[in-house]
Amino acid sequence: MRVKSRGDDMSLAAWIRNLTWKCHVCGAERLDEKISVHRKIETLNGIKIQSNIRFCNDRRECIDGASSVNFFKKD
Ligand SMILES: [Zn+2]
Repeated sequence: MRVKSRGDDMSLAAWIRNLTWKCHVCGAERLDEKISVHRKIETLNGIKIQSNIRFCNDRRECIDGASSVNFFKKD
């Protein structure tokens, strides 16, 4: 198999530009530059765990919703 190379497209910078992340609020796949990370400490069974919640930094509902996302559901 032959990998097609188009010069600059193979650079690390280009790779990072094309990197996508899934928003934890709306579930959309967004480019790296459109995703920010909200860090918060959650407590599960007395153990503190840092959560990194990704959200679209250009969508108001995702920015507002990031702080209310819980990976560990408290029943
Ligand atoms: Zn989003």
